[in-house]
Amino acid sequence: MNRDIQRFKQYQYDVLIVGGGINGAAIAHMSALNGLKVALLEKGDFASGTSSKSTKLIHGGLRYLENLELGLVRESLRERAVQLKSAPHLVHPLKFIIPVYDSDKRPLWMMKLGVGLYDLLSGKYVIERHRALGADEICRLIPGIKRQGLLGGIMYTDAQMNDARLCLENVLSAAEKGAHVANYAKVNSFIREDGKTVGAHARDELTQKPFEVRARKIVCAVGPWTNLLMKDERGLSPSPVRPTKGIHIICKGRVCEHAVLISTQKDQRVFFIIPWMGNSLIGTTDTDFAGDPDHVKVEQEDIDYLIAEAKRVFPDANFNQDQIMASFAGLRPLISEPGAPARVSRKHVIKQSYSGLIYVMGGKYTTYRKIAEDVLRRLTDQPLVNTRESFPVYGSGSLREDVNALGQEYQIDPVIIRGLVDFYGIRVRDILNLTKTQPALKAPICSCCSVILAQIVYAIETEMARTVDDVATRRLLIGYQSCATGECRRTIRSALAKAGH
Ligand SMILES: Cc1cc2nc3c(=O)[nH]c(=O)nc-3n(C[C@H](O)[C@H](O)[C@H](O)COP(=O)(O)OP(=O)(O)OC[C@H]3O[C@@H](n4cnc5c(N)ncnc54)[C@H](O)[C@@H]3O)c2cc1C
Repeated sequence: MNRDIQRFKQYQYDVLIVGGGINGAAIAHMSALNGLKVALLEKGDFASGTSSKSTKLIHGGLRYLENLELGLVRESLRERAVQLKSAPHLVHPLKFIIPVYDSDKRPLWMMKLGVGLYDLLSGKYVIERHRALGADEICRLIPGIKRQGLLGGIMYTDAQMNDARLCLENVLSAAEKGAHVANYAKVNSFIREDGKTVGAHARDELTQKPFEVRARKIVCAVGPWTNLLMKDERGLSPSPVRPTKGIHIICKGRVCEHAVLISTQKDQRVFFIIPWMGNSLIGTTDTDFAGDPDHVKVEQEDIDYLIAEAKRVFPDANFNQDQIMASFAGLRPLISEPGAPARVSRKHVIKQSYSGLIYVMGGKYTTYRKIAEDVLRRLTDQPLVNTRESFPVYGSGSLREDVNALGQEYQIDPVIIRGLVDFYGIRVRDILNLTKTQPALKAPICSCCSVILAQIVYAIETEMARTVDDVATRRLLIGYQSCATGECRRTIRSALAKAGH
């Protein structure tokens, strides 16, 4: 895809979207789908903000039932169905087990009632109905779980996704439909004429060159950066977003093939231990954050909290410091409300300032399609293309060939092809075709993983990756695994250098 900054100066766009997280990406995608002339600017890499730091669940949010947010849960469950259908290569059903102990604040009957209500709210979109589990069955399904005090539990089904790639595929879909998109392009201020915002002063962060973009409407989808960008705005409250920090750690190995939802003892929250890329994703925390969103980081006390709570339920599991392969911190761009962070609503709000800027705040990853749809209604009076049943992304669709046939055709191990299909959906052929002209690209990038060289070339040429982190962390996800030799990063670095980056 083309990241040509020069072209931004040449157009009067229908809409400029600031921020390339999931909300900005989806708004750009849906705007382009509806025939608008779109510009999208992201100051770092696409999804480098909150949208690659989530728990990676497309879910109704069982715990929001406690806050009586039935409307939000129902809406999210409906969107879950849309996502499962729209992007099956990136969103998959995942079973969850809730073990309940005699010391838990929420008794077993209450959990059963909650999950029953969750299924009821899913209505026809339920993936698989929940079932009650006895303590013995839980111990069989989750080897190593503490038996003492275990009363029983529940199994229910939600969905897991690849957050960074789902965001990227919305960007790629937008570009395919004619949007002009650029990462590493930061908006520093807005151009105002007669009290109206008519454009933005931006800078190419790779060359440090300034440029201007003009548009009829401007949408700020900058998540946790909202308060910074709107500080000169009249007509809106001064700090409408309340950023709260959430961290995750990734521990070596899986405790179980299902996800486990655990109630904390310290503050009666819930957190997850989720199977993810062969390891365990553990999180999250929820604490107010008043610092610079560019510098959010994982603190030792966050890690200690998660390890202590996980070890309470898995006393013999090795969740110790030396087993942590990676950790990451993100900020929820919640709407400002009083109360404990975990109690703040996850609903989204769209506000327009006096100068005409449209701000998107709050929301969940799960509801991104709905958020984009609500913004589109402010951008155009025309009837919208119907995405309520399906909003396909770049790799969506069904493959005509099976993995064995592709393996035969390209002379590549079908196991590797399977992995590529799970990542790229129907675009798998784009990667495989690179190996036709350059068979050397079939080679693995390193002995630690099954990623092949063609994927790095594709990340740079088509997916606009510009740094080692863009490729390793958000295109290929190998940044979350350990590589003993460092060969992965060296190979990526030399591919970037060869491409002139
Ligand atoms: C720990 C954690 C776990 C979560 N888990 C889940 C979950 O499992 N399921 C779920 O549904 N939701 C989850 N969420 C919520 C979800 O991740 C967020 O609601 C969503 O990612 C927010 O997307 P966004 O596009 O608004 O923000 P972001 O992804 O932060 O995107 C905003 C972008 O704007 C860019 N930007 C900022 N300033 C400028 C500028 N001046 N110029 C250009 N670009 C700029 C930033 O670089 C950033 O990339 C979780 C959130 C957190 C923090």
